Amino acid sequence: MSRIAYVNGQYLPHRDASVHIEDRGYQFADGVYEVVTIVGGRMIDEAGHLDRLWRSLDELSMDPPMNREPLKFVMREVIRQNGIRDGIIYLQVTRGVAPRDHPFPKNTPSSLVMTAKRLSMEKGAKTAEEGVSVITVPDIRWTRRDIKSVSLLPNVLAKQKAKENGAYEAFQVDEDGMVTEGSSTNAWIVSKEGKIVTRPTSNSILAGITRASLIRELEKNGIELELRSFSVEELYSAREVFLTSSTSYVLPVIKVDDRVIGNGHPGLISQKLRTIYEKFMSEDA
Ligand code: PMP
Repeated sequence: MSRIAYVNGQYLPHRDASVHIEDRGYQFADGVYEVVTIVGGRMIDEAGHLDRLWRSLDELSMDPPMNREPLKFVMREVIRQNGIRDGIIYLQVTRGVAPRDHPFPKNTPSSLVMTAKRLSMEKGAKTAEEGVSVITVPDIRWTRRDIKSVSLLPNVLAKQKAKENGAYEAFQVDEDGMVTEGSSTNAWIVSKEGKIVTRPTSNSILAGITRASLIRELEKNGIELELRSFSVEELYSAREVFLTSSTSYVLPVIKVDDRVIGNGHPGLISQKLRTIYEKFMSEDA
């Protein structure tokens, strides 16, 4: 089945799909996006992702490209036309095409692009069984990290550094030495005292949808959580470390920089939380 992309009202072969060179997403990174996981042909946390998309748009005074119901229809159509059972759908909204000028253009419709691709569930499961390593890098981003902007250059640089160091992810660290989040994931620890800890939402991090769903599942299961920042030192000496995202789910971390976490294997709590999250996904999908 050939890949299909949606571009401003048209379903096109992926290789032919393109946007204008004066799209503000291309010129100013003036756009926002979402990545939604698909399991068994169904979207996980669709409402949460759409709520966050609308919030990002609102924070940037950008018009939604269409109402929520038609958008949901197009998303389903993209998934169907690409024949995706397990994978992701990517959607991006920008402030549209206009002659290059910094202020917002007038009477310019937003651009909407969607693509979808398959992901191997087996590969993800194997990665989780083995655990991953992360590095730490200074957080050099702007102060509105709560907006899911396509302006991802610092995240790209962080992820590239992780890759060059044979790591899966880079945890970013603020000026106070506290961990903010990964380049495309939220960061968690199980502290020396055995408490599950993750940073509270603010403009310092993206409010991860996976993070929010896992917190809800923790509450349902009566598992205690500490919403607070943690330092790099605490990260190094944590009993367990894990990360969350729509594509990684709950992923155990076994090494941070050159420090081995726990016994160098995925921790029991991280593994349990992955199982709890997988159960949630099977019920949501
Ligand atoms: N933080 C950042 C910077 C991200 O890009 C992502 C991925 N969208 C996340 C956290 C995780 O968010 P989610 O669980 O919604 O995928």
